[in-house]
Parts: sequence; C-alpha cells; structure tokens
Amino acid sequence: MQVTRRFHGPSDLHLHSVHSDGTESAALVVAAAHRQGLRTLALTDHDTTSGWAEAADAATSLGMTFLPGMELSARHEWRSVHVLAYLFDPDESKLRAMTDRIRSSRMERARVMVDRISHDYDLDWDDVLAQTEVDATVGRPHIADALIAKGHVQDRTEAFSDILSPGGDYYVALYAPDPVVAVSLVVGAGGVPIIAHPAGRAGLLPMPLMTRLLDAGLAGFETEHRENLTAGVRTLRRIVAEHDLITTGSSDYHGLGKPNVPGENTTSDEMVARIIDRATGNAPVYP
Ligand code: AMP
Ligand code: FE
Ligand code: FE
Ligand code: ZN
Repeated sequence: MQVTRRFHGPSDLHLHSVHSDGTESAALVVAAAHRQGLRTLALTDHDTTSGWAEAADAATSLGMTFLPGMELSARHEWRSVHVLAYLFDPDESKLRAMTDRIRSSRMERARVMVDRISHDYDLDWDDVLAQTEVDATVGRPHIADALIAKGHVQDRTEAFSDILSPGGDYYVALYAPDPVVAVSLVVGAGGVPIIAHPAGRAGLLPMPLMTRLLDAGLAGFETEHRENLTAGVRTLRRIVAEHDLITTGSSDYHGLGKPNVPGENTTSDEMVARIIDRATGNAPVYP
C-alpha cells in the first residue's frame, strides 16, 4: 500500500507546457522547476492530461515528486473560472467526455476568431497551427504567438490587451461547463478540485455559488497566485477557516508566455499531503 509521504516541498502545483499554452515541453517545464529548487510539481495543462507521462519521467529522473493535474475550463455567466484538478482518474468517462468537448470547442472558436482577425490583419489558420503542438489544447495564447510571429504585436500581453480582448470585435467565447458541473466531474473522477486564481481582477465568485461549489465537493482555493488581490484573499481566508479547506500557492508558469517563475509561490507540505489523502482517483509519482 502507498503511504502518503509527509515531506514534499518546496512544491508548485500549477504549471503549463506545450500540451496547452505553455511554451516549453513538459520535460523542460520540470527542468525549470528543478532549477528553481522545487521538489514536487504538478503539471496542470488546460483541459488535457497528455503531458503527464513525459512530466512524470522527467520529474522522477530528477528526484522530484510528480502530481498529475489539469486546469479545467468552466464559466459562470460572462466570466471564465478555472478549476485545478489533482489526482483524478484520467480514464473516467464523464470527465474525459467533457474535456474532449471543451477542446473541440476551443479549436472551433479559435478558427472563428482567426477568421474574424484575418479581415483586418495578415493572419491565417496555418499561422496558428505553426505555433501549436499537435494535440495541444488550443487557446488565445496560440493566436497571440501567431500575431507576434507576423509582427502585429510585440508579445502575448499586448495581444491580450487589444486584438484578443473579450471586449474586442474578434473575441468568441469557448464552450465551458458551469463551475458546479466542473467540480462535480472532478470529484466523480476521484480528483481534488481547487479554484485557480480565485481572487483576480474579476473579483470573488458570488457567495451563493461558493456554497454550491462547496456542496459539490470543492476542496479549496489557490490563495497564493500573483493575480490574486489582497482584499479577496482576506475574504477567502475566512471561508477557508470556516470550512477547513485546502489552500495552495503556485506560479502558473507558462514558459516564455508569461513572466511567472516556477516556485514564486509554493504549497505547504501539509496541504500537499491533504490533497494526496483526499484523492481516490490517482496517486503521485514518487522518484
Ligand atoms: P483562452 O482560454 O483561450 O480564452 O485563453 C486564456 C489563457 O490565456 C489563460 O489560460 C492564460 O494562461 C492566458 N492569458 C490570459 N491573459 C494573458 C496575458 N495577458 N498574457 C499571456 N497569457 C495570458
Ligand atoms: Fe494558460
Ligand atoms: Fe488559469
Ligand atoms: Zn493556469
């Protein structure tokens, strides 16, 4: 029987590779985390588990512990909600069907966005494909990279603030489930759901929704993330204390796609152990 180890740290539980919108292979993401002194990491590509095997191999060969993870897309009204999912069964059919659906919607939506953009800028679908690994979860960051390659913008930040902005003419929403559905699917696959960057500029989710998420099995919040605002985190800490929830701290590393550095926030050994103990769908890969 696998006994949960109590010493993991330093641990960073939120990083992205080219399997979604990071700019580095899973092995390079692990190497970057190792260089920053981390000893445990989770790969949390958007809506896919396809980077797990490569990351697990790279991590264990460097003496690191690997937690399989994913950042599942959800939406509440107009705002996107990201649900970090840890240690779920990747073959569970309902969650798999959902990620398949989200990923094909992302592909369709990216094509429509590129079509709209192509009326005003020299850009076509092949330019986006040139920035996207085969089978990667496609997102606006890949369109941003194509816009950079064509010289239309300097970097992803500029692309997001203008051409790719949700307020702009080219934006198309992707299909994503209600957050309660997303949390229920993760729990149904034996995983541990944690709301990513829960106190960003959009503000906290409304309290009635928080209550429904907790009833559905939400395990906690990523309270340490560079996009969280102090006032929101203060409120979250009250909810965490009241319900004895898990809190995590992470970098949300995207390689060169964002300034975030592995290990800029970390998760405590106690919280890593609580995530492992709570999961029934999967186990960490130890070196
Ligand atoms: P999408 O899910 O396709 O709508 O794109 C959202 C993704 O873009 C998020 O997962 C972020 O990682 C990334 N993103 C959002 N804003 C920025 C930004 N200003 N610079 C770089 N990446 C961003
Ligand atoms: Fe991302
Ligand atoms: Fe996110
Ligand atoms: Zn992320």
